[in-house]
Amino acid sequence: MAAIVLDGKQIALEIEEELKVRIANLEDNGVTPCLAVVIVGDDPASHVYVSSKERACARLGIRSIRVDISADAEYGEVVSNVRRLNADPAVNGILVQSPLPNSMDEIAITDLIDPVKDVDGFHAQNLGRLVQGDVSGLLPCTPAGVMRMLESADVDLSGKRAVVIGRSRIVGMPQSILLAQKGVDATVTIAHSRSVEMATLCKEADVIIAAVGISNMVTSDWVKPGSIVIDVGVNRVNDDSEKGYHLTGDVHPDVRRIAGMVSPVPGGVGPMTIAMLMSNTVRATEMQQ
Ligand code: NAD
Repeated sequence: MAAIVLDGKQIALEIEEELKVRIANLEDNGVTPCLAVVIVGDDPASHVYVSSKERACARLGIRSIRVDISADAEYGEVVSNVRRLNADPAVNGILVQSPLPNSMDEIAITDLIDPVKDVDGFHAQNLGRLVQGDVSGLLPCTPAGVMRMLESADVDLSGKRAVVIGRSRIVGMPQSILLAQKGVDATVTIAHSRSVEMATLCKEADVIIAAVGISNMVTSDWVKPGSIVIDVGVNRVNDDSEKGYHLTGDVHPDVRRIAGMVSPVPGGVGPMTIAMLMSNTVRATEMQQ
């Protein structure tokens, strides 16, 4: 039987409807949430992501500010912009779009953001709270979006074996912590570039979360029948189309014939990430009142 396809776009719309109510409450108190995005350089994918964040803000009535900085700017210019936004009481959320040019220290910049405005949830203080078991603050958007997607599908993760492929600071590592947290209670394996026997590891999993960046890496022979496969990957594959490329995930489309539930690319984790960013912006605004 073909897998159930988890519709990230639809779940994101439902989250937006909930947020509209909270935004209206803030407006009643004279507050309009405001998200500032700092983008350095002209990476085309980053510009696409930033535009979709701006569109989501416009849909919800969140004010958005965009700070464009050229790729050859001094590191100090990024620092001074983050400091200025930290000090501006009208700005509730700040994110610095990844990747930064190689010469710039991304983690140092993240840690400069005021933790109560850190809507990406990457500041050491926010990640630290997550490790302490406190999930009430600003959580990293993509892993939180995956959790919300699983919750929407009524998936009970308690005692389930989950394999997270990828150990990045922004997806794999916080994803593993969220899955293993008390109350969720999955048994988590973190796989990465040095892991061996990936097929065997994955085949034993009830849940696979692929966050690698390798097109179609997870094939159907890696997947246990009926398992849940969440595809975080977004890969640009060049082709002869007008755009010159199309997007693929880390999970091969054939996996749908074996798995019980899958998330599509596009239309799966991507829209969930944006919805959780909007949610963090509203949460940050509420926390600052
Ligand atoms: P990253 O490059 O920081 O991390 C990739 C991880 O994959 C690393 O931990 C690495 O150890 C692991 N890896 C690499 N090769 C491997 C292999 N052969 N076997 C097993 N593990 C391997 O990437 P990231 O920022 O975590 O993003 C991962 C993917 O998710 C990318 O495709 C990215 O575009 C996508 N992404 C999507 C969203 C979204 O909203 N949909 C958000 C963030 C990232």
